Amino acid sequence: MASLFVELKAPNGRTYTQPTGLFINNEFVAAKSGQKITSIDPATEAEIASVHAAGAEDVDLAVQAARRALKDPSWKKMSPTDRGNLMIKLSDLMEQNKELLATIDTWDNGKPYSAALADDLPEAIGTIRFYGGYADKVYGQTINTTHAKFAYTVRQPIGVVGQIIPWNYPLSMAAWKLGPALACGNTVVIKAAEQTPLSILVLGTLIKEAGFPPGVVNIINGYGKDAGKAIASHPDIDKVAFTGSTGTAREIMKMAAVNLKNITLETGGKSPLLVFDDADLEQAVKWSHYGIMSNQGQICTATSRILVQETIYETFVKQFKDALSSISKVGDPFAEDTFQGPQVTKAQYERILSYAKIGVAEGATLAAGGKPFNGPGGKGFYIEPTIFTDVRKEMAIYREEVFGPFVVILPFKTEEEAIEMANDSQFGLGAAVFTTNLERSHRVARDIESGMVWINSSQDCDFRIPFGGVKQSGIGRELGEAGLEAYSQIKAVHINMGSRL
Ligand code: ADP
Repeated sequence: MASLFVELKAPNGRTYTQPTGLFINNEFVAAKSGQKITSIDPATEAEIASVHAAGAEDVDLAVQAARRALKDPSWKKMSPTDRGNLMIKLSDLMEQNKELLATIDTWDNGKPYSAALADDLPEAIGTIRFYGGYADKVYGQTINTTHAKFAYTVRQPIGVVGQIIPWNYPLSMAAWKLGPALACGNTVVIKAAEQTPLSILVLGTLIKEAGFPPGVVNIINGYGKDAGKAIASHPDIDKVAFTGSTGTAREIMKMAAVNLKNITLETGGKSPLLVFDDADLEQAVKWSHYGIMSNQGQICTATSRILVQETIYETFVKQFKDALSSISKVGDPFAEDTFQGPQVTKAQYERILSYAKIGVAEGATLAAGGKPFNGPGGKGFYIEPTIFTDVRKEMAIYREEVFGPFVVILPFKTEEEAIEMANDSQFGLGAAVFTTNLERSHRVARDIESGMVWINSSQDCDFRIPFGGVKQSGIGRELGEAGLEAYSQIKAVHINMGSRL
């Protein structure tokens, strides 16, 4: 696999040059590992392209490039304002190429093009721009102590940062990680998920075009067990930031112990959505549908456990099922009216179907879906939106993250019981509450164990707002001003003015 670029034509007719190499030192290079990753179109099961996949030796070269760039005056001495302007330039280039980038993510991931263009790209562009604005606003403090002494603090980069991202929002996940890391002056080795290797390489060309010095951002594709492990355990990487499953996060945390790496982890969830009987039911149905069925249910914050007050339970379930037939149009991700495309891979598709079988075997009632959807041309990893009722708390479908268009709906009696059920989980990422009672909304928001709460909504996500989980949903926060904490460290400088006093 010698070629480092291929000419591709996407299903929507768009042609472009796809880089396939590893992006190290602002150049696309062949992987020394000789490994490759073949990207599959989940809508047709056809091969799109093969890209180079990094092994440990390649990761090491990327780390060396990042280490050199960290020390190089072209980055180290660049004023924070210039650094921010580079990021803003990058965001402008992303904006200019947003249709292309949305096309690639739709093709590679299966998500509807309308969503990629209207949601993913503005989020990715906005995140880079937002943190570009922050680059020259990462301040320390001056702290007076005694008459003779004072101290000041400065926020400095952590150093060489390894970033491992998932496949559900390929470009947004890259932007969430790159934005705060670059704003704070770090250098980066970022690894895309093997399921979606393509768009981030095009981002690499834009990074170079924006004028980032070589080695500041190094982008690699590679398998988790090879390149991912090599990043997490590399002795010359100062921090690892990860988004993915809780099991992998546990592995990464162990590997990161080798040199006490700073870590940020954003992991799984089984987020509850509570509907009280005083809620605006139409809104509750609309948002709870979006909260689990959008992005093919492949969202770590998906509100996958819907808990409804028993007085309105039957009505809610009926309306939710009606919403499936009226909103959840499954089909070709490039078709304008498609709400739900195929799952990202055969493995995810099979995993979701296996949970449907488990649910039935556990004795729950399959109220909708639970089987493949016959996609266009009879191909593709399509699944019918799935609802289970008569679910008990000990069932796997209630406790485990499925990561698909798959929801369980249970009744509760009182507010107290609703909170207890909501908190009865190893996870604590998001939570939603539907009520028109102002006091109740804030009371529940306070008592739910989660990193984020949506009141009368689900899945609101904004680069200005901190994102992250409690319990086994993660460590640390991304986005917002809080996201800067993860990529800078405080140095305290003590000043003694005492000799002349
Ligand atoms: P998912 O199950 O949703 O694919 P993973 O946690 O397996 O989530 O993958 C998320 C990211 O973590 C991907 O970039 C993947 O390559 C990487 N990864 C998977 N396993 C490991 C590992 N053992 N060490 C480091 N990275 C890994």
